[in-house]
Amino acid sequence: MSTLIPTQLVLVVDDDSMMRVLARATLEQGGFAVEEANDGHAGVSAFERLRPDIVLLDVLMPVLDGFGACAALRKLEGGDHAPVLMMTALDDSDSINRAYEAGATDFITKPIAWPMLVHRVRYLLRANRAFLDLAQSEARLANAQRIAQLGHWEWNVATDQVRRSDEIYRIAGRTPEQLSAAPKSFLDIVHPDDRPIIEDALYAALYQQQPYNVDFRIVRPDGAIRIVHEQGEVHYDGARKPAHMRGTIQDITERKRAEERIRQLALYDSLTGLPNRHSFKDQLSHAVARAGRTNEVLAILLLDLDRFKRINDTLGHEAGDLLLREVASRLTKILRNMDYLARNDSGEANSFLARQGGDEFTVLLGGLKQAQDATKVVHRILEEVSRPFDLDGNQIVMSASIGIAVHPVDGNDADNLLKNAGAATHYAKQQSKNYQYYNSGMNAAALEKLALESKLRNARGLEQFVLFYQPKVDLSTGRVTGLEALMRWNDPGTGLVPAVQFIPLLEETGMIVEVGAWAMKRAVSQYAAWQAAGLQPPRIAVNVSQVQLKRNDFVTSVQQAIAIAGKPDHGLDIEITESMIMEDIEASIEKLKLIRALGVGISIDDFGTGYSSLRYLTRLPITALKIDLAFVRDMTTNANNMAIVSTIITLARTLKLKVIAEGVETEEQRKFLQLLKCDEFQGYLFSKPVLAEQVPALLARGGKAAAG
Ligand code: C2E
Ligand code: CA
Ligand code: CA
Repeated sequence: MSTLIPTQLVLVVDDDSMMRVLARATLEQGGFAVEEANDGHAGVSAFERLRPDIVLLDVLMPVLDGFGACAALRKLEGGDHAPVLMMTALDDSDSINRAYEAGATDFITKPIAWPMLVHRVRYLLRANRAFLDLAQSEARLANAQRIAQLGHWEWNVATDQVRRSDEIYRIAGRTPEQLSAAPKSFLDIVHPDDRPIIEDALYAALYQQQPYNVDFRIVRPDGAIRIVHEQGEVHYDGARKPAHMRGTIQDITERKRAEERIRQLALYDSLTGLPNRHSFKDQLSHAVARAGRTNEVLAILLLDLDRFKRINDTLGHEAGDLLLREVASRLTKILRNMDYLARNDSGEANSFLARQGGDEFTVLLGGLKQAQDATKVVHRILEEVSRPFDLDGNQIVMSASIGIAVHPVDGNDADNLLKNAGAATHYAKQQSKNYQYYNSGMNAAALEKLALESKLRNARGLEQFVLFYQPKVDLSTGRVTGLEALMRWNDPGTGLVPAVQFIPLLEETGMIVEVGAWAMKRAVSQYAAWQAAGLQPPRIAVNVSQVQLKRNDFVTSVQQAIAIAGKPDHGLDIEITESMIMEDIEASIEKLKLIRALGVGISIDDFGTGYSSLRYLTRLPITALKIDLAFVRDMTTNANNMAIVSTIITLARTLKLKVIAEGVETEEQRKFLQLLKCDEFQGYLFSKPVLAEQVPALLARGGKAAAG
């Protein structure tokens, strides 16, 4: 069977081996034989040797590029017949022009839509065969042209009459009576918006003696649109005056529609159906160019859902997807009604919503009078996102952080505006704000952070980290009952860096695993050293990060630390926060139980700031609650905070947990806590965190205070 139709040979010339592999795979699947050449010269000689039916030619190649190769093989004997399909960079009209000058039959833009390639090659071969047949027989030509949906025309300049093949009438949906021989009559059936394209091309052909290639739309009598590709050129008489023009018209509607479908896939996010980040950037670039002329203000909003990961981790990815789709649909609804939200005098407020990826969405607001006009929309979005979501029966409450960059003040191009909106979002998150307008200081802050990060990386040698110790004091006896180890980084350049500045960086970079393990070991050996010196040191609590607790080897790292003591009295406790446990409750409980069994006390730090988890509190193997210093700080002036402190103390009592108030700075606070029957306190009132050398003196002082 297959011997009836000889397999057609495609020569693929590209220096990029990946492209060749992909082209081969695609074409062979389409039933073609494929040969490859990896540069222009090899391409020309392969052409001579193999006589392929069609050549796929890359433009950018070392030594002899595609233009050169194309020109060279056109000069070979028989080289003028085979179609040459050039692969050019996207939208580069210059190289497309050059490709045609070098004799290319057609071009295809990179990145190549692979599913289209086989169709393009087939179509070119078909069209090419039609052209070859033309030379042989008029009858066969007409047929071939019908198959290729290719028509031809000839315009006699002297008589100003156009002769057209049948296929043109078929494409136009008109009879020869309906489409007169006057050249102008053809222009009348062209879509009005596209007429200048043809006029310009004809002008160039006649006066600059250039052949032309154009795509335009034809409107059929029933209103249907056909997209056609026209090639034309002028032929001159002996006196070098235009004698006639000839051209072909091909119906490429199906091809264009297929391309359009592929484009859709490339421009839209499949999960939410929203435009994707590429579309957004495109749209933003256009808006920026337009805004430069009209002085309108643009706002770029970058929305990031807070703690989205938690949904994925606890409810599964399907719930996460559902949530993203629901957020997308809520945002779409708000923005559809945007005129009402951000109306300006001309009423031209407009918006463009896209999914940036992950849990990030971007919104472009245009037609604003002033930057602050975006605030109304932002509030509306935040309000909508904070309405509870129902994910297959799970009611969940979300929040989002929105960063806003404004054109022209915050950037003059799409990249910068997006980057700055991102910086603002990041800032909003860090400051626990709902939204934040960009300001140039944010990048400075980010740079500072980067500098710190690189210094930290160099500080990897653990000797730059130091533990300070802050006593916990019994409120009734005044005795020091515990120590909290607080880390400092002794940066050779700037001196002691506070924990809040570098712990988050250690967490982000994962270095906290190593440094945190060191801190536990350091605390255990310090405890042992004090014992060896004849002191009776209190237990030492080390703060543990989320990043450490999450790891599978966390229990092992605690074991390794207490092993240093070489006896059961290792003195090690840990402090963790409520939200850390909630991240993965069951796994956390398992690990904490193992650690508790090793004789390690576990306090819940910053208690009161996490989301309420009373249900789990009873299941946790914990020993103490630490009331967050924010409540303690204001308790004497803020009745609400006083109530919280008192509730936590009662709660601890009920659960038989020890309760410690942190951040006690005044005598008044201490008295209140004593009245509320809090067990212990910690804070500057008694002592700031101090170096190990200063601890013995503090222990003695605590003892004396109790005695006196
Ligand atoms: P935290 O565990 O809540 O520690 C209490 C913070 O309050 C400490 O800040 C402490 O110096 C400070 N503080 C103590 N008394 C008072 C007071 O009376 N008034 C005020 N205003 N502040 C007081 P620091 O040392 O800067 O540590 C900040 C946070 O960094 C800690 O919060 C803890 O979450 C984290 N951190 C510190 N050391 C480590 C560590 O070794 N590992 C890990 N993972 N985190 C650590
Ligand atoms: Ca702590
Ligand atoms: Ca705390």
